Amino acid sequence: MTNPHLSLDQEILGDIYSSRESMNNLEILCDDFGSRFGGTEGEKLAADFIKAKFEEYGLTNVHLEPFEYLGWERGEATLEIISPIQKTIPCITLPHSPPIEMEAEIFDIGEGFPTDFDAKSDEIAGKFLMTNSVLYPKGIKRWIHRQEKYGRSLLAGATGFIFVNHYPGYGPATGGVGSHGVAGPIPAISITKEDGAFIERLAKRKGTVKIRLKSTDKLAKMTSWNVVGDLSGAEKPEEIIMLGSHYDGHDIAQGASDPASGVVSVMEAARVLAKYAPKLPRTLRFVMWGVEEIGLLGSYEYARAHADELHKIRFYLNMDGAGGAPFKDINLHAWDELQNTFEDYREDMALNFAIGQSFHSASDHYPFLLKGVITGGIESVRQSMTGRGYGHTQYDTVDKVTLLGLRDASSLAARIALRVARADNWPASPRDAESVDKLLNQPSRTEIQAFIKVMDEYFDKL
Ligand SMILES: [Zn+2]
Repeated sequence: MTNPHLSLDQEILGDIYSSRESMNNLEILCDDFGSRFGGTEGEKLAADFIKAKFEEYGLTNVHLEPFEYLGWERGEATLEIISPIQKTIPCITLPHSPPIEMEAEIFDIGEGFPTDFDAKSDEIAGKFLMTNSVLYPKGIKRWIHRQEKYGRSLLAGATGFIFVNHYPGYGPATGGVGSHGVAGPIPAISITKEDGAFIERLAKRKGTVKIRLKSTDKLAKMTSWNVVGDLSGAEKPEEIIMLGSHYDGHDIAQGASDPASGVVSVMEAARVLAKYAPKLPRTLRFVMWGVEEIGLLGSYEYARAHADELHKIRFYLNMDGAGGAPFKDINLHAWDELQNTFEDYREDMALNFAIGQSFHSASDHYPFLLKGVITGGIESVRQSMTGRGYGHTQYDTVDKVTLLGLRDASSLAARIALRVARADNWPASPRDAESVDKLLNQPSRTEIQAFIKVMDEYFDKL
């Protein structure tokens, strides 16, 4: 197949692979601004920095879209074993965990197989539930997310939640426990794999383990910002191809791979497209989402505030952590209609990425998917995830990210955006509410959908 975009491809690739801009931006975002966690000074500095870069690159309509939410600020937390021995264990609280002082016995449920929570609810009630971060307990097929384990603990009557990292040597792993911006009702803490194993041995050798937890986190109203910039379309400006990534990391880390490697890859795509393809037929929109890590709050807010414009989005490419993904594959979120189109793109780009057709709810494409928008993401499809690795730990740092990874992600994004913006035939149209419902409620999702419904009702009542 001849490549109809060859000369632009060559300019884009030549520029990206001879530039260090993406790594320079990553160093500024992570080394100068820190975690960029919601409510930190670095978060606002990052939003302003991205805005200034968008302007420097020549984007138009560049602006911040502020929104309010219930924020969370980490305080000191102390975890002591008080019986059958006395010992202090290092711990961190999880975002949206409420401040508390309490004592309780530990109930260890291991990997957190979903049906165990119901079956063992008599033993769980009134105790601190301990589980680990294994994604696929006992070989079951779907990802059991931290929030599902926390939610099932709530429903079973647990009074607290201990999340044990399943990787040795990575420290404790973090992750929010709120839902749709509402704080979690019971305290949630995280400990290392090694300390989790110690508690397990202690329980086995000496019986019931009792702990005392004191946490001092603060919950308060805060403001965050989505950052928007456009390359306006020359012929059909009302049709939009959107690229995005959240820019907040977790407060315990630099969040270099998740998400900053995605942020700078979106920025780099914006830079080269503005330079070499400023007059594409359709509009390209670049959006950096605020506070994803505590519940996709920025992208939910955008989907709410722009509800009447979502039908204009031809395609949204989510790039959360794209520069750090081991493989730069394209995951289409169950859009079989686009399979051939992306296979053609792959061929004329002379690349070998895999094309997936599945979806999850753990990043910023999800609020759009729920509204029927055609979404996909740059993710590893070839390698099934066994966990987050360094992600969500203090070791997600700049040195783990390679310039080559950033170049691969940004050039792939730019070349796909170019193609979707130029395509006269686009074989997919947004889903209506009924089709979204059908997608979510397909037979393989019965268990998770039932859980989501119960949780939504639970949090609505708080
Ligand atoms: Zn992320």
